[in-house]
Amino acid sequence: MAHDHPISRLGRWEGYDVAEDWSEVRGGESVYVIRLEPDRGYLRCCSNCGARTAAIHDLVDRRVRDLPVFEHRVELIVPRVRVACPRCGPKLERLPWLDAYARVTHRLAESVGRLCQVMTIRHVARYFGLDWKTVKELDRARLQRELGPVDLEGLEVIALDEFAIQKGHRYATVVVEPMRKRVLWVGRGRGREDVRPFFALLGPQRCAQLRAAVMDMNASYELEVRRHCANAVIVFDLFHVVAKYGREVIDRVRVDRANELRNDLPGRKIIKGARWLLLKNRDSLRPGEDVQLEELLAANHALFVVYVLRDALKNLWDYRHAGDAARAWRSWYRKALRSRIEPLVRFARRLRPYLPGILAHCRWPLGTNLVEGINNKIKVIKRMAYGYRDDAYFFLKIRAAFPGVGR
Ligand SMILES: [Zn+2]
Repeated sequence: MAHDHPISRLGRWEGYDVAEDWSEVRGGESVYVIRLEPDRGYLRCCSNCGARTAAIHDLVDRRVRDLPVFEHRVELIVPRVRVACPRCGPKLERLPWLDAYARVTHRLAESVGRLCQVMTIRHVARYFGLDWKTVKELDRARLQRELGPVDLEGLEVIALDEFAIQKGHRYATVVVEPMRKRVLWVGRGRGREDVRPFFALLGPQRCAQLRAAVMDMNASYELEVRRHCANAVIVFDLFHVVAKYGREVIDRVRVDRANELRNDLPGRKIIKGARWLLLKNRDSLRPGEDVQLEELLAANHALFVVYVLRDALKNLWDYRHAGDAARAWRSWYRKALRSRIEPLVRFARRLRPYLPGILAHCRWPLGTNLVEGINNKIKVIKRMAYGYRDDAYFFLKIRAAFPGVGR
């Protein structure tokens, strides 16, 4: 009778047949319960040595969740078999569709993992009627299994970047292989000792093979790379330098100007509202915004100067010959000092010691939008995670989002 059961043919619980099935209502949900029974003729696999035997030592009932059918949740009652292994004695059977002590089948775990790539844990848990913790653990185990240990062989260039775990509170560091767009490592903190574990993982030999490290103007990263990787050139990436310029120069000049216009309310309002207009890339301006920008710059000389010098600063990253870039830098630096605009002069003086790291970009012209892209993706993952506090899981999600392309 059991072999003919249509559910048995659909469910394909290898080694088992359906003994009986019924539905019941639990907590307002309809649950379809299927009691399985071991197929007596099936050759079972010893989980310890892999030997095959049909001899059953004993059975223990387990309740296991499977994929839902129609509007019903599905619960299996599985008598788990301990085989009488001729070599090992009584041992749990190894099943191709259910792990030892697992409370969900492989296919349910796989569906959970797939949905966790696009949905929050909370939504996946609600969808399958599973516990939040169970869903997270299933996804964590899947990521761990799929990602495996990171491959660090033949690494020549790395990029280091920091990101906030909680707004303004805790920080973390991500290490990326920019060529293959691959996240290599994520760790809590952004200080020297926080990133040291990465270099320990890399080991002295692979550290010595590293030829360039791209980063923000962050002294901890720089010092730590210099300490471990004697042959690596430090490269400062455009995205960070320009972002810093936006915050420390353009924003400062804009706020100062707004304060000067205390008695000109309409003018003050325009300047106060122009933050994004000024920080945006020129080519991502919307129709009309270009006119607005031109008017703003024409009426505010200091803003005009710092805006033009931002574009000139960006151009430094376009040079492919260090000599040309150095010449362009000297010209930029002279203009900055001559402007007598205080935030600009200060920024230029602070930037000067980093010049070698800026010129190194000519030899290592790496796409800086990668760092920006990873930063944005991390924000999305963080939003999806609804601020829960499991760093290890969060970091796995980041690695999974950048598994690397090509080889
Ligand atoms: Zn065995």
